[in-house]
Amino acid sequence: MPILSLQHINKKYGQAKDFAVNDVSFDVTEGEILALVGESGSGKTTLLRLIAGLEHPDQGSISLSGQIIVEGSESVPSHERKVGMVFQDYALFPHLTILENVTFGIQKSKGNRDQIAKDTLQLVGLTEDHNKYPHQLSGGQQQRVALARAIAPNPRILLMDEPFSNLDAMLKDQVREEIRQIIKKTGITAIFVTHDTKDALSTADRVAILHKGFLQQLDIPKVLYENPVNPYVANFFGKRNEILATPSEEGFYTSFGFINDPEARKYKTKVKLLFRPEHGEVVQRKGQQISGRIVKVSYFGSHQLVKISDDEGFRVTIRTNPGRVFDEVERAFFYLWKYDIEEAF
Ligand code: ADP
Ligand code: MG
Repeated sequence: MPILSLQHINKKYGQAKDFAVNDVSFDVTEGEILALVGESGSGKTTLLRLIAGLEHPDQGSISLSGQIIVEGSESVPSHERKVGMVFQDYALFPHLTILENVTFGIQKSKGNRDQIAKDTLQLVGLTEDHNKYPHQLSGGQQQRVALARAIAPNPRILLMDEPFSNLDAMLKDQVREEIRQIIKKTGITAIFVTHDTKDALSTADRVAILHKGFLQQLDIPKVLYENPVNPYVANFFGKRNEILATPSEEGFYTSFGFINDPEARKYKTKVKLLFRPEHGEVVQRKGQQISGRIVKVSYFGSHQLVKISDDEGFRVTIRTNPGRVFDEVERAFFYLWKYDIEEAF
């Protein structure tokens, strides 16, 4: 049984020409962390707001913990959905202390509100400064308060909009891991929105990718990266090289040389070989490789990207370890250990 289920959700804003969300359906399993990714304007925030009850869809239904919360024009009001929300700008109450911010959402009927709030602050790693005001905290601390405020009332699901976008790169890697651990420790189901593929692939159990309001693919990170369902998804998760190839009985003729591959005999017309930079390897000269001229080497610390050109100036990029030393204009022999084959027209 999924904890959250969206069925054929459509949403258009006022006079807008296009739908912000187009026939989106998916389920979220209890305890799972789902990332919603997509470029700006793809409908990520709108989807969160529809689940939270801050917007109502034009069509479709939503159920949460077995209860239908949206169907037709009927809906359960936002404050009765037991959904926790962390907004992109944190939206803390500036005139309330940290402790008061977290206590705020906890039901009055719960006698030990103060203790619940303190326990939750401890869970997110804020053991002191409970009487300070939001503006006295760093961005990272404010985010923890926002997270504590959202989870203290024990919501059925936690929604976070771009939780990492206001953090600098150094802090981000650490916060991503911490937030994942906090969420896993509480066992809460969570959906977070991000436009950053690294956030999504490294933090989520499953990732949903949106494009122009349409859900493109929803799967575990590895499948999205390795087996994208369409070129849009493939390119969203990183650069892909394309080599034009002519099939024969034994393999593919390309402008970089011949690639032995019995798969080739299945194709009658020209094809594209598609591969990511890390799916190639620059090798010492031996049997199974193709070659080109090195035109550029870019060093990134953790790795290098080597641009290799064929005789016509057409280039591919191959990733190598950072220790390799290359001369530009040197001839590079390389080998592709994985590629997708698509018919080219
Ligand atoms: P994302 O969070 O992926 O950047 P949004 O859900 O905010 O995307 O927006 C999806 C589309 O809906 C965009 O085209 C955006 O311009 C439009 N949109 C979002 N909010 C509103 C609004 N309140 N009124 C009108 N159009 C909106
Ligand atoms: Mg948004």
